[in-house]
Amino acid sequence: MIPHTLTIAGSDCSGGAGIQADLKTFSALGTYGMSVITALTAQNTQGVQAVHAVPAAFVTAQCQAVFSDIRVDAVKIGMLADTAIIAAVAEALREWRPACVVLDPVMVSKNGHRLLADSAIDALRRHLLPQASIVTPNLPEAAALLGCDEATTETEMVEQGRNLLKAGCQAVLMKGGHLSGSNSPDWLITPQEAIPFTAPRIQTKNTHGTGCTLSSAIAALYPRYKNWPETISHAKTWLSGALAQADQLDVGHGIGPVHH
Ligand code: PLP
Repeated sequence: MIPHTLTIAGSDCSGGAGIQADLKTFSALGTYGMSVITALTAQNTQGVQAVHAVPAAFVTAQCQAVFSDIRVDAVKIGMLADTAIIAAVAEALREWRPACVVLDPVMVSKNGHRLLADSAIDALRRHLLPQASIVTPNLPEAAALLGCDEATTETEMVEQGRNLLKAGCQAVLMKGGHLSGSNSPDWLITPQEAIPFTAPRIQTKNTHGTGCTLSSAIAALYPRYKNWPETISHAKTWLSGALAQADQLDVGHGIGPVHH
């Protein structure tokens, strides 16, 4: 049976991140993709020019439309924009209880545009972390969720991952890309284990949407493998391929997208 995957996230009209990256990833990995749009962004490879959040009641209407009719095997959650949208998504998850929820706690774009109100970080931690099967923060996002300093060593990464588990999620993938001077392992933290995943650092300027793409690959592959180590290993291998091919794309004048 072909898995059905749903992204709840923001639109990137330039096609490299957000909903568009998620749907391309879902298709590339052989699943049937669906989308609940939380915000429209006007953006390109040079930055985010404007954000228009969808009214929370309309996010609820989209969730109802999908969940009331269609089996959903995995959900990826990306940009949520504000507290009202977080509350709407949390309520939909409580009502429909999808088997797998991958929470990418998107906060700021690569060029520094806020994609989540500062005041909404607390709501994300309280209402969505406890409903996440796995959360996939980079180091600044993990620090913001925990209200602590950013990890600077792998030991601190693992410790912060364990602290996020205490906030109620079932697993954490701490993404190490922001650690300097390392080959940037990501750490999978579950109540039972802590496993590092290393991948070669690929030299390309085209990295727009990397985080969105990894979390949607995890959502697409979990229904196939049904365990985190295999899911993450295959998702990271696939992302490395997308990054390795990114230089074949000549999209825009700034940070271009990975090749889905
Ligand atoms: N735009 C949207 C709608 C996103 O969801 C995200 C990331 O999740 C971004 C932009 C940021 O992408 P990047 O930081 O890779 O440029």
